[in-house]
Amino acid sequence: MLAGALVVKNGWRELRTKHREVQELSELLRSLPIHSPEALALPGFRSPDSVSQKTADFMTNHGLYSGKARRCGKPTLLMIEAFTDREAEMLQAAAAIEEGISSGELHSLPRQPDEVDETGATAIEGRLLVRRALARERDPKLRALKIKQVQRRGQPLRCEACDFDFARTYGDLGEGYIEVHHVTPLYISGTQETKLDDLACLCANCHRMCHKSRPGESWRTPTALREQIRKSVQSAAH
Ligand SMILES: [Zn+2]
Ligand SMILES: [Zn+2]
Repeated sequence: MLAGALVVKNGWRELRTKHREVQELSELLRSLPIHSPEALALPGFRSPDSVSQKTADFMTNHGLYSGKARRCGKPTLLMIEAFTDREAEMLQAAAAIEEGISSGELHSLPRQPDEVDETGATAIEGRLLVRRALARERDPKLRALKIKQVQRRGQPLRCEACDFDFARTYGDLGEGYIEVHHVTPLYISGTQETKLDDLACLCANCHRMCHKSRPGESWRTPTALREQIRKSVQSAAH
């Protein structure tokens, strides 16, 4: 994703090994705490050369390129598609990942259970961004503030997508329980403080469905999910 962002900003042209951006990206990638010592010891691992080759993959597999395409994997092809369809969104996501890595925030976050779905595929926003979003949403203080806001407004505490009410189903065990979800993805809202109105209350099922990531797709908003439920209930009735 980060190499793709470099190519897009360079007018869909590759960047050579000597480019400052390529050198910096290589350093940034090698600094991630996700590599095994064995991988880091391999001579070409995330080297400036390998970053430059990745940018060539992006350039030569893009629809505008008239020469021969380099062989590359499916993930790169999906990234090219995403950058082509949603350039601004993808550039913002790449910037947020870069910022999260350099600030150190992404280094200290533990893995989150929902960051990868059962197929092992990740959201287009990238696994690290999912990790960051989920970690922030689990902040108990934020959840408490949102629940208070809903109660102050005299609204029932239930799922905004499917109306599920934990207290109605589970009695006092479910009293006051709901999950909160950022409607605006973090890569768009940036590091600014979360506004309570940007949080939606969701049941655990709908929350998962909002984040469920399929390659080439963004997260669903609660409103979009509500529409999806309505449609599928309707088609089941016919
Ligand atoms: Zn729900
Ligand atoms: Zn969420």
